[in-house]
Amino acid sequence: MNDKDSQTRERGLAVVRTVAELRKAVAAFRAAGRTIGLVPTMGALHEGHVSLVAGALARGDVPAASIFVNPTQFGPNEDFAAYPRDEAGDFAKLEAAGCRIVFAPDKDEMYPTPMLTTVKVTGVTDGLCGPFRPGHFEGVATVVTKLLMMAMPDRGYFGEKDFQQLQVIKTMVRDLAMPVEIVGMPTVREPDGLAMSSRNRYLAAAERETALRLYREMTAVALAVRGGGASCTEATAAASVALLAAGFDKVEYLTVVDAESLRPLEKVAGPARVIVAARLGRTRLIDNIAVG
Ligand code: AMP
Repeated sequence: MNDKDSQTRERGLAVVRTVAELRKAVAAFRAAGRTIGLVPTMGALHEGHVSLVAGALARGDVPAASIFVNPTQFGPNEDFAAYPRDEAGDFAKLEAAGCRIVFAPDKDEMYPTPMLTTVKVTGVTDGLCGPFRPGHFEGVATVVTKLLMMAMPDRGYFGEKDFQQLQVIKTMVRDLAMPVEIVGMPTVREPDGLAMSSRNRYLAAAERETALRLYREMTAVALAVRGGGASCTEATAAASVALLAAGFDKVEYLTVVDAESLRPLEKVAGPARVIVAARLGRTRLIDNIAVG
């Protein structure tokens, strides 16, 4: 085993802050014949993020995570400044999970010059979060494109928790023939069903109780509409009323959509998702589940 082999076979997390360092770290693993699995995150990591690292390991990839709270995907009245940050804790979780590289750039490294280029995906961004978060998916598509170009991974790992985001990224990679495979990973939930999210820490104790109604109501809708049973409009209307009665302040949308196009359905005939965004106090929660 030469020096390079021993370096890339050991455990241990390399923290890199610049694109040049990232490319060097990736190149060392490639030279040892390894494939790379990129796990883009905004930090404040939890078991959902860790499951993406595990997904990369399970496919034989060297897991490389990124941590960057991307300002361009936050609207002017959103929680960019308040978004939780815990770099030391994140590095410890990544190392324990078997991640080998973490790219944690600052804003100037990510955006050294004014951005005159963006990536905009249409169609799958028209509904759901699209109208509620103008510019959000353009910010996501652009930063994910940059991260993919910087790391040049074999695979990129993304959570189904952000189902619309996953479809946006799959569409972008397909349309632009990006040489990367996008792997969607199942949503990791708390034991009571609440989807893990960095934003759950905003919830007060009473709100935390209310929040788990999201999963219950989505499950009720999925059972009602599966196999072309109930009308999707009727089932989701009843569930929205139940969420508001339970204490949610606003249901932005609660819809049954085609799992690929994300277009709303009236009757379920193929792969479909129940998908929701709702506000509880100052927290905006999103979630989705497969129908059937
Ligand atoms: P974020 O840090 O929130 O931008 O998320 C980074 C990645 O982790 C995205 O691909 C998310 O979809 C994924 N993710 C977030 N929460 C979960 C979860 N509960 N289960 C699985 N993946 C998740």
